[in-house]
Amino acid sequence: MTIHSPVTELGRVLPKQTKALKSLGIVSIQDLLLYFPRRHIDFSTFSNIKELKADTTVTVTGTVKSIQKRFSFKTHKSLAEAVVSDETGSVQVTWFNQAYIASMYKPGDRIALAGKVTLYKGLQLLNPVHEKLSAENIHTGRLVPIYRLPEALYDRTFRNLIQKALPFSATIPDTIPYFLQQKYNLFPLEETIREMHFPTSEYKLQQAKERLVFEEVLIQQLATLLHKQQLEKLPAYNIKQNKKIVAGYLKNLPFKLTQGQSLSIDSILGDMEVKHPMNRLLEGDVGSGKTLVAFVSMLETARAGLQTLLLAPTEVLAKQHYETLQKFLSVVTEEPVQTALFSRNFAIIDGVETTQKILKERITSGEVKIVIATHAALQDAKLFKNLALLVVDEQHRFGVEQRSVLLKPKNKTTPVPHLLSMSATPIPRTLALTLYSSLEISRLDELPGGRHPIQTFLVPEQKRPAAYDFIKKEIRAGRQCFIVTPLVEESEKLQVKSVKTEFEKLQKEIFRTQKVGLVYGGMKGAEKDEAMTDFATGKIDILVATSVVEVGVDIPNASVMVIEGAERFGLAQLHQLRGRVGRGQHKSYCMLFLSNEAQNATERLTKFTRIDNGFELAEIDLENRGFGNLFGINQSGFHFKYGEYLTIQTLKIAKTAAEELLQEGNLAINYPGLHSLAQPLVKDIHLE
Ligand code: ADP
Ligand code: MG
Repeated sequence: MTIHSPVTELGRVLPKQTKALKSLGIVSIQDLLLYFPRRHIDFSTFSNIKELKADTTVTVTGTVKSIQKRFSFKTHKSLAEAVVSDETGSVQVTWFNQAYIASMYKPGDRIALAGKVTLYKGLQLLNPVHEKLSAENIHTGRLVPIYRLPEALYDRTFRNLIQKALPFSATIPDTIPYFLQQKYNLFPLEETIREMHFPTSEYKLQQAKERLVFEEVLIQQLATLLHKQQLEKLPAYNIKQNKKIVAGYLKNLPFKLTQGQSLSIDSILGDMEVKHPMNRLLEGDVGSGKTLVAFVSMLETARAGLQTLLLAPTEVLAKQHYETLQKFLSVVTEEPVQTALFSRNFAIIDGVETTQKILKERITSGEVKIVIATHAALQDAKLFKNLALLVVDEQHRFGVEQRSVLLKPKNKTTPVPHLLSMSATPIPRTLALTLYSSLEISRLDELPGGRHPIQTFLVPEQKRPAAYDFIKKEIRAGRQCFIVTPLVEESEKLQVKSVKTEFEKLQKEIFRTQKVGLVYGGMKGAEKDEAMTDFATGKIDILVATSVVEVGVDIPNASVMVIEGAERFGLAQLHQLRGRVGRGQHKSYCMLFLSNEAQNATERLTKFTRIDNGFELAEIDLENRGFGNLFGINQSGFHFKYGEYLTIQTLKIAKTAAEELLQEGNLAINYPGLHSLAQPLVKDIHLE
């Protein structure tokens, strides 16, 4: 038997259990060992039977005095009953629906029991976890692992399997070199696995978790640095900028740029003048004016005779961008620049409808300089004559694969497009400096043009009717409203169910004379676009939505954002939702409601009602909720399996370690193991 042997070799595993294991991705012994518990329950303190109190969770050890199975006529269920005693007293034990337990033990057996003490005809232990007392208890008397398991598998069975597999953990190759373990005080893999399952203390469990996430981040950081090295070797278009001409464009705008916009434009144009590909992220709240920054860069690219592709996440947004671009060009320059809109339903060149075929030809010939497109155009980078700049709006919405196709050079000498991503997801500075180190970042941290801040309220439940009346009043005044339903993390199905239920309730009971629409995550693209268009054109007054409401869609007429179950969202995410109103000249409002069980979120959310800066809110999220729940991390392409264990400290150490390893020279030669893990991630990075 080795770590690669099937789990079935560990002992008796029923076929339905094998199937259930497989559904967890567990086939081999190694898979099993690397399937870590979701949490642990602390059964480590033993209690004397005499001292048991109702409604406490305890572990006791004792001798079985009597044990038998019985059928309860009251509940029509069979059960096992026992009396267990220690030196201080005895206690009644009942297991409902587990009558077989009666045949597992006999009077005189020494056993351990862990569970809840309840008061029922005297104190008793109800359905406790149980096992024979031995030197190595795994179900009681310690931090006991609880796993995420399908129905066919029980924690008990699973723990037994793990225990049998544990000796093999010594033979799983350790990715982290020994000297790094020493230097950064990290557990070896074997100890990590053991402590993850059966921790000998809370502290060691913590160390094990840190080691796991360290490894993940180390590899991610190595990939990031490798990627940076590679980018620096790749050829790109060298786009000479002309500051005078750019200043000339900007003079024609009806407003002055914000400081962030000016700095960003300078940096981007500077990057594109360098011979290797730009990898820059432009971050800024919804409404901070990212589009304009992109347009200036696109125009400069066009002036150099080269092509730009701007990708938008939806057709509605693509069309919106196209119209804004045409306006922008007509205001800032008299030079003709050929532009196109390319999506499922549109093929437009310079504002005039054409066929997809002609459009493609003109892209290939290089006549069309700026293309705004949805995924439809993503398929084929070869379509372009000289694609020099790729702009991705709301970057996280695109598959990494799709992006890397566009960025892949045709051959070694073909220039790689510069990449500019735009995102409204604020990355806390701490993260930007570490995780995203291969990325240049520009930030727009002020809103242009003296806009009104959005008035935000945390609405107590008893004021709900008043809030609905307020919405009706806004609608009568011609405004529109978003209602976002709570985040349901358990499953998409439940999420859809919840949004539909809310939609029906609102339509039938509350907003009977208003027009209510619905949009949610798993909805078909066309239906979603239709709902969004209906909202954009005012056919719908109220849009009930999951949190996936298209980021960035401009509905200047919407003035109220209602967020249900607000406590389930991070502050940065709430901020982004809030940013969907207040985009026109109307005074706008954001109302937060809590689920009834969530009163303890009040403090965090009250902060939110007072702070209007997305970056600041993201920092607070990072402090309060750690990395695991940080908005943007999951959407950004970093999929840390152990992200919830990540601390800033570990992040910093992993970054330093990665830098040191690379400074030693060629990673592939020095540390082939680490290299083979990091290298496959490299393609995913340009950019996260
Ligand atoms: P986002 O960053 O969300 O993409 P947009 O680029 O859509 O924001 O900009 C929002 C609005 O602000 C647009 O109507 C745009 O014309 C306007 N805008 C951009 N820059 C400025 C500025 N410097 N002063 C005033 N208005 C601006
Ligand atoms: Mg935008």
